[in-house]
Formats: sequence, structure tokens, C-alpha cells
Amino acid sequence: MKKLENKVAVITGGSSGIGLATAKRFVEEGAHVVITGRREKELKEAAAFIERNVTTVAGDVSRLEDLDRVYAVVKEKHGHIDILFANAGAGTIAPLAAATEAHFDQTFDVNVKGLFFTVQKALPLFSNGGSIILTSSVSNVLGLPGFSAYAASKAAVRNFARAWTLELKDRKIRVNSMSPGPIETPALATTTGLTPEQAEQAAAQFASQIPMGRRGKPEEIAAAVTFLASDESSYITGVDFAVDGGMAQV
Ligand code: NAD
Repeated sequence: MKKLENKVAVITGGSSGIGLATAKRFVEEGAHVVITGRREKELKEAAAFIERNVTTVAGDVSRLEDLDRVYAVVKEKHGHIDILFANAGAGTIAPLAAATEAHFDQTFDVNVKGLFFTVQKALPLFSNGGSIILTSSVSNVLGLPGFSAYAASKAAVRNFARAWTLELKDRKIRVNSMSPGPIETPALATTTGLTPEQAEQAAAQFASQIPMGRRGKPEEIAAAVTFLASDESSYITGVDFAVDGGMAQV
């Protein structure tokens, strides 16, 4: 029996890394998936990789009119949503003394405002309970130099899950945050502002802080998100589900 048979799932940031691996897994588990991301080309490549039962819609989660467009497509195509994986995130590294207003605004626009309205605007399409999973990060509980704005934004995500668990309980919608440790995705090399050598160094540095001694794989996050999305986690809501090789647990 597939875990997500005929469920309708929306995944933001679904064209790459964690979101893409999760979209692939959801489809393997029987779901119909709508993925969003900012770039058409990446979305097309993602759709080819996923192969079937996937719809793509380009959009920037920090732009409310883009979110309206995404959900209009979901409504037309499927009529409702069962699972929302609010995963799109941005995370350039900037020490306090060097951070700019643009850095701060971009981090909060995507990770906090974007995620807030991603969930708010999806709500009318949840008609029969459901599961919402918010991508936070181990940085929501760890002090990581250079990541203060990012960490604060991910702590906001964790707290959204707490409040929304209570706000949505009567609609039988479960809300959990999911906190990855360092994962082998393009993010470290492409969005943090590090050179490839610096990214390698940072990856090795992270690995040394992880009890399991290595970074995680996107598929390992996808497995955890599939559990939170499925009825197997029917009594789990409001938690922060860490998938971090033990990094923030010891
Ligand atoms: P990634 O760069 O591979 O993917 C990020 C995705 O988010 C891409 O599809 C990108 O298009 C999308 N995105 C970024 N800004 C967007 C915006 N404004 N509007 C719409 N889409 C946007 O990175 P990833 O590592 O897969 O990251 C996924 C999530 O996991 C992020 O929220 C990130 O903060 C979080 N995370 C990642 C790690 C890690 O080590 N990779 C660790 C903890 C948390």
C-alpha cells in the first residue's frame, strides 16, 4: 500500500535539493504533486526528473500575487490540497558586522513572510483535514556564526508551527516543522555566497559537528517529510522534527 495514494501535495522550492527529492518520493508514494520554484528552466528539468503526476508553476513565495497564481492553478487542476510542504528558503551567510539591509530583508522576505503567506493562501483549499510541513533548520536552536538572520528566520518558522497547530486543529490539519541539519544540496554552494572552496570547507566543518559524521542526503529528508505527510504520523502535530544526524540533539 502506498503511503500517499491519490493525495494532492503542493511543494514550494520543489525544483531543487530537498523539495525535489521530496516531490519525487511523494509521487512514488502515489501523490499528485504541484511544485513551485522561481525559475521555469529548473522546474522543467525537475518535472522531467519526477516523470509523472507533477505540475509545475513558477513563482516567488515572497510575492503575494505569485502565490495567488500558484493556488489558482492548484484549484483548477485538483480542486483541493491534502499536503503542503512549505520548503522554499533562502540563506546567504553574513556575519553581524558585515550584513546588509538587503541580506536581512531577503532572508525574512522568503523564509518568514513568504512561508507565512504560502500557508495562509493555501488554507481555503484544505477541505478535509491534512498535513502542513514547514522547513525550519537546526539553526533554530543552535548558535551558528554567520547565520544569525537565517537562524532567527528559521526560529520564526518553528514558532509558526506552534501557533498554527492550535489555530488549525479544529479543521483536522496537522502542522509540524522539520529541521534539517546540513544536507548535500546545491544550497551551500549556490545560495550562501561562498566560493566552491569555502563551501567545501564549510561542509567539512559541519560534518565534524555531526554525531553521524556526515551531511545528510536530500532523500533522507524526503523520507521524514513523507512520514509527516502521511497518516502514519496521525498523532503527531506541533513538533519540530529534526533530521540532522544528531547535530542539535546532543
Ligand atoms: P536548494 O537551493 O537546493 O533549494 C531551494 C529551493 O527553494 C529552490 O527550489 C529555490 O528555487 C527555492 N526558492 C528559494 N527562494 C525562493 C523564493 N523566493 N520563491 C520560491 N522558491 C524559492 O536548497 P535546499 O537545501 O533544498 O533548501 C530547502 C530548504 O531547506 C530551505 O528552506 C533551506 O533553508 C532548508 N535547509 C537546508 C539545509 C541544507 O543544509 N541544505 C539545512 C537546513 C535547512
